[in-house]
Amino acid sequence: MSQVYRSTRSSTEQAVSFEEAIITGLAKDGGLFIPSEIPQISSNDIKSWENLTFQELAFQIMRLYIKNEEISDDDLNKLIEKSYSTFRSKDVTPLVKIDSREKLHILELFHGPTYAFKDVALQFVGNLFEYFLQRKNANKKEGEERDIITVVGATSGDTGSAAIYGLRNKKDVSVFIMYPTGRVSPIQEDQMTTVTDNNIHTFSVNGTFDDCQSLVKQVFADEEFNNTYHIGAVNSINWARILAQMTYYFYSYFQLKKQLGSNDDLNVKYVVPSGNFGDILAGYFAKEMGLPINKLVVATNENNILHRFINSGKYDKVPVKVTYSPAMDICVSSNFERFLWYMIRKTDGKNDDLKTGEIMKSFMDSLNSKTGEFNVSSDVIDATKEFLESASVTNEETVSTIKATYDGTSNKYILDPHTAVGINTCLRLIDSSNDKDVHYISLSTAHPAKFSEVVNLALSGFEGYSFEKDVLPDELKKLSTMPKKIKLIEQADLKVIEAAIVEELKNEKK
Ligand SMILES: *Cc1c(COP(=O)(O)O)cnc(C)c1O
Repeated sequence: MSQVYRSTRSSTEQAVSFEEAIITGLAKDGGLFIPSEIPQISSNDIKSWENLTFQELAFQIMRLYIKNEEISDDDLNKLIEKSYSTFRSKDVTPLVKIDSREKLHILELFHGPTYAFKDVALQFVGNLFEYFLQRKNANKKEGEERDIITVVGATSGDTGSAAIYGLRNKKDVSVFIMYPTGRVSPIQEDQMTTVTDNNIHTFSVNGTFDDCQSLVKQVFADEEFNNTYHIGAVNSINWARILAQMTYYFYSYFQLKKQLGSNDDLNVKYVVPSGNFGDILAGYFAKEMGLPINKLVVATNENNILHRFINSGKYDKVPVKVTYSPAMDICVSSNFERFLWYMIRKTDGKNDDLKTGEIMKSFMDSLNSKTGEFNVSSDVIDATKEFLESASVTNEETVSTIKATYDGTSNKYILDPHTAVGINTCLRLIDSSNDKDVHYISLSTAHPAKFSEVVNLALSGFEGYSFEKDVLPDELKKLSTMPKKIKLIEQADLKVIEAAIVEELKNEKK
């Protein structure tokens, strides 16, 4: 397969290599990279994958999206091995059963170094960055300028630590993560600031998350600065993140088949707590590749742009609300553009890539204009509903789901608030569905220890419950006593940030 990557907004045939799509992150026209074709896997081939390990399966899937000329079999295997050797579970992403409901299965994605699902992708992305840079720098002579990347990112919690753990100690990569002072949870802050590797820099910025994000955008837009320091991003639109997440859809499907002792195709829906639509988008690719998934269910909190869209065909920005599941607090869902591209192509785009790109561009121009919205045709919505169902879950429902799950399971299973949004959605579907044969795989996106405030709010009334004893893993307990590296940035200002970056880079070289 001659896999190349094109932009969702392009009306020309321009395509780039996998390497360029990963390193640049975003296409020049502002669109997102998508593969030139979605590989099709026959049901026989899917069957032959059933007994593979997570790592072997990741190899089979990634091989279909990366040309051999770009990464050899041997190198790809090594990258995958290295990326998942940091996980605490031998299954990497185990599928567990809680005993409250027969048809409910939880896919635990939080067994990586930072206890959040983002590790599954960012451990791999970090190794890819290093691999591409090493290759570029391999033939350079002493004194010759090396290729470098300076990753600059903003975080309200989860992405920052996952990016830091993915990129720590990687040669020729420097990382700057900004977060708003006093506005991330203590554990999340400790996770970031206790990584004291030379190439990792955490900036605690006197401002809001929006200030931090705006600074990142300004640093990217400063052409001179960008040309000197080669600014890179690892945010959720990076194609390698989507690619790495496909593995656990296949893997959990096979795990469930084994657990049920079934030889036939399963009737299964995946329920995914969603914000930027990266996690669930990987499920869309798995389904299109041939994995027999019944439906993907978008579980949103009160920031429910996707739920509203699926019901109305109107995609409109409204201000973000602060909820109990902060990693899903978004006003637009950046990866949705990729999914929508395929839905348009199937319908109004008449299977024509260029026409589809044109339509997509006009939608995005409209979204980014004063109107702040766009509307799609009923054909596009019908196509969307072939793949997606959706729900929106309130804060109260999030808390009551954590309570009920703890109270109603024999092992007192504790959900994090993001996972609880998914489980609430799942239980609603189970209770209202006429189709009693459907199994639900609900994705668990974080360990409850990362969101102590909400978990304690839900559970502190239960006799015998203790956060320290029941929730907090030893590894996270240790963090609060470890040495920290933080730089306080008093003023959320471009010049101040750039000066701080330059100074830190100088210190790194020493
Ligand atoms: C990032 C994140 C999500 C949302 O995932 P998307 O890919 O942005 O939809 C959900 N839960 C947790 C804990 C996260 O960190």
